[in-house]
This record gives sequence, structure tokens and C-alpha cells, in this order.
Amino acid sequence: MNSTFLSSWYDILRNCNYDNTYKMAWAKAIVEIALEADYSNICETYEISLEAIAHKVIKYYWNQIIFFNLIQGSNPLRPPKILTLTKVLIDKYQSLETKQPIRFEKIQHVLVNDIALNKHFRSTIKKITTVLKADVSYRFLNLGGKKLEDIYQYEKGDASLFIQAKDLKTLKDNALQIFDTINYRWSLILETFNSTPRICKKVRIIDDVKIRRKPLNQYMKYLDMYNPNHICFICDTKIEKGLLSIDHVIPWSYLYSDDLWNLVYAHRGCNSMKNNIIPNENSIRKLEERNKELLQTFTNHKRNKVVQELQLAVDNNYVQKFWIACQS
Ligand SMILES: [Zn+2]
Repeated sequence: MNSTFLSSWYDILRNCNYDNTYKMAWAKAIVEIALEADYSNICETYEISLEAIAHKVIKYYWNQIIFFNLIQGSNPLRPPKILTLTKVLIDKYQSLETKQPIRFEKIQHVLVNDIALNKHFRSTIKKITTVLKADVSYRFLNLGGKKLEDIYQYEKGDASLFIQAKDLKTLKDNALQIFDTINYRWSLILETFNSTPRICKKVRIIDDVKIRRKPLNQYMKYLDMYNPNHICFICDTKIEKGLLSIDHVIPWSYLYSDDLWNLVYAHRGCNSMKNNIIPNENSIRKLEERNKELLQTFTNHKRNKVVQELQLAVDNNYVQKFWIACQS
């Protein structure tokens, strides 16, 4: 058991400062590389290029930005450079491909195969590598003013770091626990910059290849009590059978949750047109009114969990709060 090495890793993860999330991304990339390494072919040390780390770092930030747009640094006016670079890449991708939020893993091949995008992707990797060189690679080894020698070897300015094969294996064998610690620390750091709900969940699902969504049909019986004629929340006309959909007024990608207080009936077409756009003030007022009236239809269902949540939302102005928070 390689316990000194591992406890040094945990010390770094637990004690790193709260300025930004670079060290978390850096650590996560190294552990992921440890998981992917081919151990049949390793000598005593294993070389990890900073470009390979940069590639993974882009993936983490891409998924966090494209779904949740979380703030990753203590000064919102000067966002961390890697964030800005990843955002520019996302903008480029979205201007050429689609505005839909899509996980990095799913579109990676486009970044590789499309000539214009690939040029941009490669230059983003280069620029992020420069930031990692200048900012993260050696600082990661500083713990409370002293340098940890036994984590990996890195000479300032080099294109690669070197890690003992046995240490790499230790990272691989403990990957799940290390990922948990990283995600937990990452969430804690983000909570100091962001007021959005369920940060922990948001950080964790970045690891889930599929973001699981439960069927919304279970909410129809509640929505029907207030809106039995299926009038569209967006265009105020009746929705014919087959065109009915359930819409999240505050985008799902922001809340990452299905709650009755945020759900309305809408035409499929109306719903897809507004895709992920933050609602305007009128929609918010309308939703607040709807929730109050909806709550009144449930006077005999006070013990139902969905109704209790609705009550909580009305009492605490969730609609208003989350609407304001998702604009910041
Ligand atoms: Zn409609």
C-alpha cells in the first residue's frame, strides 16, 4: 500500500485555497489519465503531457459551463483564464454547429474533424497548456509553504510531468474515492461563488455520461387540476392532443430538477422554440400567480409531498429567487 503518496494527495485536495477550481481540474485530469493508462507497457516512470491534461480540463469546464454556467473564480469581473478560453471555444462551436447544450464527449469528434473548429480547439489546448504551465503544475505541489516532492516530478516550464508507475497505479486503484473528494471540494469552492441550487449534484453529474431525467408524466395529474383544458403557458391557446408537452419555465439545465412549481403545459413547438432561454418578467409573474391558484386547488392534499413542495415554493418565493439567481 502506497499510503504516504495517497495521503499527500488527499492533503493537497483538502487544503488547497478557494481562489478558483484549477487544482481540482488538474487533479481530476491526472487521475483520469491514471485510469486510462496501459499498465502492461509502463517503465518505472510515466510521462503525462500537459497538453493531455489540458484536453481533459477543457472537457470538465465545457460540461459545467454548457449546462450550468457556474462561476469558477472569486472575482466575477476577472474570470479564470481557462474558463474564458473554454467559453470562447463553446461560442465558436455553437455558432458553427448548434446552440443546444451537448456534453463534450458527444461532440469531441466534431472538434477533431471539422477543420475550422479543430484549428480553434488546438489553439485552445495550447493556450490552456500555457496557463497550466505557469499557474497550476508546480503550485499543485505547494502545501502550506512547503513543496511536496513525492507527488510527481515537474520542472517549471516543461511540457510534461513524470509520475512513478506505482503511484499512477495507486491513483487508478483509488480513483473513485479520489473523484468523490475532488467533486466534493470542487462543489464547496463553487458554493462560495455561486448561489445556484444543488451545486453538489451539478458537479457530480459532470461524471455521469448520461444525465438521467425522470418522466414528467407523473405531474400531469397535478397540472390537470389547475389547467384541465390544456391551455399553453406560452401562447395561451388550447393544445391539441399529441402536441402537449410539459415545460420547465426556469430552464431544467439551470435547476437540474423537476418541481411542480416550475412546470407548465406548453405546445411542443412553443416549448422547443424557447429552449433554455431565461424567462422574462411576465412569464415569472404568470408562474407565480399560477402557483398560488394551483396551491388553492389542493386544500385537501396537504400531506402530499409534491403539494408540500409547492407550498414551500410559494411561501419562499422560489420562482422569484431562482429567476434572479439564474440571470447572474
Ligand atoms: Zn403554445
